[in-house]
This record gives sequence, C-alpha cells and structure tokens, in this order.
Amino acid sequence: MKHPSSAWLADSVQQLLIRDLLSRVRSWAPDQTISYRELREITYAEFLKRVNQLAIVLTRLGVQAGDRVGVMDWDSHRYLELFFAIPMLGAVIHTVNVRLSSEQILYTVDHAADSLMLVHPDFFEVAEAIAPRVPKVRHWITLSDDAMPPATSLASVGDYESLLAGAELEFDFPDLNENTVATLFYTTGTTGDPKGVYFTHRQIVLHTLAEGLALTAHNNPFSLSDDDIYLPLTPMFHVHAWGFPYLATMLGIKQVYPGRFEPQRLLSLLAHHRVTISHCVPTVLLMLLNHPESKQVDWSRLKIAIGGAPLPIGLARAAANRGIRILGAYGMSETCPIIAASHIKPPRSGPTEAATDPIEIVTRTGFPIPLVDVAIMDSAGVCLPAGRENIGELVLRAPWLTRGYLDDPLRSEALWKGGWLHTGDIAYRDNEGYIRITDRLKDVIKLGGEWISTLELENALSQHPAVKEVAVVGVSDPKWDERPHAEVILREGIGVEITPRTLLKFLHTFIDNGTLHQRVILTQIRFAATLPRTSVGKIDKKALRLGLQNPTTENP
Ligand code: AMP
Repeated sequence: MKHPSSAWLADSVQQLLIRDLLSRVRSWAPDQTISYRELREITYAEFLKRVNQLAIVLTRLGVQAGDRVGVMDWDSHRYLELFFAIPMLGAVIHTVNVRLSSEQILYTVDHAADSLMLVHPDFFEVAEAIAPRVPKVRHWITLSDDAMPPATSLASVGDYESLLAGAELEFDFPDLNENTVATLFYTTGTTGDPKGVYFTHRQIVLHTLAEGLALTAHNNPFSLSDDDIYLPLTPMFHVHAWGFPYLATMLGIKQVYPGRFEPQRLLSLLAHHRVTISHCVPTVLLMLLNHPESKQVDWSRLKIAIGGAPLPIGLARAAANRGIRILGAYGMSETCPIIAASHIKPPRSGPTEAATDPIEIVTRTGFPIPLVDVAIMDSAGVCLPAGRENIGELVLRAPWLTRGYLDDPLRSEALWKGGWLHTGDIAYRDNEGYIRITDRLKDVIKLGGEWISTLELENALSQHPAVKEVAVVGVSDPKWDERPHAEVILREGIGVEITPRTLLKFLHTFIDNGTLHQRVILTQIRFAATLPRTSVGKIDKKALRLGLQNPTTENP
C-alpha cells in the first residue's frame, strides 16, 4: 500500500480548518432551520449551498487568499454565511464594529486594508461618508432586507441576494494551512487608536471545540444540546458573537438571527421561536427583563451565558427569580473570547461547598475552561498562589489567544510580556480554583493606601432591592487620594424614599460580615437616570470618570 508522505498529510489534510466545522451537519441536520427576524428562514442544506454561492461571487470579484473583507451588518443569516465563506477562501473576515464613530470606522477599514465591503442599508450613510477616503476598497456589496435595495451613492456591484441568485451551487474550497488568519476585528482601549485583533482557523476551531465542551460537559447550571434553539443577544462584530454561531452551526442547532437590536423585536423573537439558549452582557439582560413586554417570554425555558462585564449578584438573582438558568462567562476580545465559565462543581462531601449559594458561584468570574492555563502575577512578574490576599494581574495561556495586535509590534509585545497574555484585569484565584476579578487595572481605587475593589462594591450595592444598576469608579480626594464614587440607577416605583445614606447603611451589612473593607463607607453615592455605555453595551467607566471630574452631588 502506498502511503502519502507525512509532509503532504500535514500540509493538506490534517489541518484544523473552519471548513471542517461544516462536515457533519451536511447529513446530520440538513432540514434544521436558520431564521432571520420574521423575514427569512433557510434550512442548513440551503445555508451550505449559499456558502458555496457566496464563495463563487467573492472569487469572481477578485477576492483572494489573504485579502480582507469588511462586513457592516446586524446579526443575520448573511453574517453567518460570511463567517464561513470568507475564511474558507483563505481570506479574512473583518467584522466592523458598526457602533464606533464614523472616524473610528474609517480608521479600522483603512487599517485593515479591506478590499471589499458588504454593507447593510442602515450603514449606508457612514459607508458613503468614508468611501472617498478608503481607496483600497475595490468593491461594495449591499446587504438589503428588501427585494429593492434603497438608493446609495456607493459604487455597489450589486445586492447580496441577487448576486447569490446568479451563482452556481458548488465551489471547490482550497486546502489551507491552519495558521491562516481567518477573522479580524478592532477593540477600543482607553487610549490610542483601535487595535486589530485576529484569529487563525486553528484558533477558531480549537475555541469552538473547547467552548462546546465547556457548555455540554457540565449540567450545572446548564448544558447545551442539539435540541436547543439559539438566538444571539450580542453583536456578531464583537468577538464572533463569542463563538456561539460557529458552535451552533457545527452542532446543527436551530438558529434565529434578530437583525438590529430592538428590545421589543428581541422579546417577540425569543417568545415566537421558543428560544432556549443565548448570551449577552449584563446590561442587555437587565434591559430585557425590565422591558414592559418581557412578560410575553417564558423565561424559564432560557439558558443565558452572561459575560463581557461582571455579573452583579442582584441581577443574577432577578434572572434566577424569572427561572432563567445563568452561566457567568469571562473573556476578552483578545481571547477569542471564552476563557472561564462559572460552572458549579458537582456535589462533593464537605460542609462548605454544600452550603454555598449557587447564585454566588455563578457570579464568580469563572473556572478556566479546558486547555486554558491561568496565573495571577504580581508587578514583578512572580506568579502568586491561590487566596484572596494574593491579588495581582490575571495572565493567560491558551491555544486560541490572539498573537498580537495587527501591525502593532509594540502593543503586541506588551500584551505578551513574559510569554503570558496580560489581561489588564486584577484578580485572585479562590481556594476552589475559580478566578475572581476584582477590578480592571485602570479602574483600581487606592483609598488611603488600601485597595478597594470596585466590583465587590458594585456587587454589594446591586443587592439592595431599590438598586437597578450601579457603577463604581475612583474619584480623587484631598484626604484619601482616591475614594469610590457609586453612580446608581434606582428602580422605578419603589414606594419608599431612598437616599445615599440608605445605601451606605446597607453597606454596613457587608462590612460587618467581612465581605467589604470598612473604608467603603467613604463611598460617595449619586443617583442618576442613565449610565454611559460602550459600543457593545457595557457600562463605560472611562466616560463616567471623565464626567465626574466635577461631581455635583455629594452624600447629604
Ligand atoms: P472586551 O475586550 O471589550 O470584550 O472586554 C474584556 C474585558 O471585559 C475583560 O478584560 C474584563 O475586564 C471584562 N470582563 C469580561 N467578562 C467579565 C466577567 N465575567 N467578569 C468581570 N469582568 C469581565
């Protein structure tokens, strides 16, 4: 028997490729459906054909291996097709953050050197404004929801649907090296221009497998299975919607893509499709639960992974009271993103664990998922042991962490200093092995020489029944250097008068039981109607700090 040479094997058939995430579903779930709002429903068999047709269209337009293709769309079935077809050609999908300012979008499209852009009509205005300043974009394709796309001055080569309709059904995707870059998007830091973060085929596949394992191996607090119905509640431009679309597609799960995020539509899609699994940042969950029409949803059907920001205990309890099964998840743009999830360990003997409140565990940052190595490092680069007293920077290793920032060697080197990816998160590992984030490096508060955890303080305040949302930042103080400032949104119709003093009194419970440092009593509390948000809906502490440089209301 003639054996192929081992070099040939390694080069062409033993690679971890995004293409291979589709191999099984072809015959496992050809009739399963993928919906887009109330507008469209396709089967997986059609989806696979459309991925082929899309590859033909893109190739005809000159897209080649290594090219970058920008997408500006809401969460849609088209986006899912692009998640696969672009990388399977050896090109790179640039998922443009459509919530950035037009100057930042211009920066990212130019920096990525996108050669083709696909744009939903809702973003025509910004695309038309930047088009003259991005000469590297050779072609524009419109992503219209209607048969007749609205007029645009973009030099469009056609609309997605009509281009697909004219293409053949079969495309021979090339064999690729698994280290080929597949995806790219930009993350905005506190300073400087947005940074391009990128992932290879190998990284996406390994992340999908590890995420799948993390979500299916533990039945606590929930487990994903192929009779689940999936709808993303995070934008697909943000870290590939946390990798869920790749996982759901690999498993052949029914998927529902909601288009533009409108609370009422999200609620009606959740109800209509009887969605069972989703993921979002805490503020989105809060918004949906508080929406007047939230009653139409049977929340007890839902399992939601909550991540991207700390999950306050108050919100976790509110969700649990509606019957939602919640999993806390931790990750960042640079980490593909999943690193840890707050699984509850199976029952073991021993009184301490048996007595632990499940909600308390779910709101821990999380336990590292398979293949992830974590350490807590002090400022001298020494790894610290477990224990609440050993707080330092959380550093990571895993096969799917970005190798650096696109064309930015200095910031890439800082990211990977000492061979660990530096998260900029301050944390400790508890004695059970869970990661506990206490702050962002840039958010830490030093009050008279003592570290105060903004996240622990937020967590405590979130448990007061009158508190709907809270964010804590440090403000400068002549006596203490810094002191915590809590910006609080109160629930409507509480019925009793709540003052900052009421909340300070409430904090005493936590001070007395040793959960909070006694100096948190110096926290300045202000009531607000809204909190500033980032482009992905998280509370924007940088903006809050800026707005607080001249605080108007002190504690009475
Ligand atoms: P981004 O890159 O915009 O997704 O933001 C990543 C950052 O969000 C992390 O570095 C953390 O500071 C924060 N974050 C994400 N998940 C969690 C979590 N479960 N608990 C606390 N902070 C989180």
